[in-house]
Amino acid sequence: MCEKKKVVLVTGASSGIGLEIARQFAMHGNDLVLVARRQNRLSALAKELNRDYGARCVEICTDLSDIDAAEKIYEFCHNRGIDVDILINNAGFGANDIFLNQSTDVLNKMLLVNIMSLTQLTRMFLPAMRERGSGGVLNVASTGAFQPGPYIAVYYASKAYVLSFTCALASEMHGTGVRISCLAPGPVDTEFRTIAGISPGGLLRKFGELSAEKVAECAYLGFEKGRTIIVPGIVNKLGVWGLRFVTRRAAARMAGSVNKKENEFT
Ligand code: NAP
Repeated sequence: MCEKKKVVLVTGASSGIGLEIARQFAMHGNDLVLVARRQNRLSALAKELNRDYGARCVEICTDLSDIDAAEKIYEFCHNRGIDVDILINNAGFGANDIFLNQSTDVLNKMLLVNIMSLTQLTRMFLPAMRERGSGGVLNVASTGAFQPGPYIAVYYASKAYVLSFTCALASEMHGTGVRISCLAPGPVDTEFRTIAGISPGGLLRKFGELSAEKVAECAYLGFEKGRTIIVPGIVNKLGVWGLRFVTRRAAARMAGSVNKKENEFT
């Protein structure tokens, strides 16, 4: 008898890490629910995953900075009888500038996408996983989650929330059969940089940079192994480990000088 395919919901599946994570899970025999704002990108990916891996894909075109986006996504799945086995909260963005230069509107949207929608989607989809005693949640943070990040302050802080929340949840869910993991990538060359206003050529950022494909591969393997924190790449692992030996003030200064050096603020 053939085993029922798992359904994996990926937010931010229209580009970068999320798109590659969707490819990984499709490649390993799962069906997908693809979420993002750009419908054309989602449709092209859905076609590709169906053609190449036989994955059945459902597209949900929505803006996760809308306060009721998570509820709409949950209801969409519920009304169509789609049981989400694995939730991947990947959508997110940053903004690189002096805090006082940043627009309140952009900061609010960042908190809604990076924190609020992630928390709400987890709260809505987790009970069924808990009941089934299987499946899981993979939340995407960043190596920036481990330290303060002057000049990208709110973004780093939002990822610190994701890391803390996910580790706490992993502890609560231990022994239930539900896997909870946090992916914390270092620099990855995606549209993220253009949107955040990070200059592409920074040498320090190039150090430890991985492709979105490699990050997604590590994410898949780490999640399958039930790792709570997944930091792709040896350089990034060492960087995160090294932070244990410096004060938060020193870590903030170091991150601030890198962030400042690689950008021109006015
Ligand atoms: P990306 O290529 O810009 O992808 C971001 C994804 O999030 C896109 O699919 C985008 O889709 C979606 N998204 C953004 N705002 C949204 C909104 N309001 N509503 C719905 N979807 C939204 O960037 P990426 O590098 O792959 O980023 C993926 C995750 O990795 C993010 O959480 C990011 O913080 C994290 N990360 C990235 C890096 C890096 O260096 N790139 C490092 C560490 C962590 P639409 O625009 O189509 O809506």
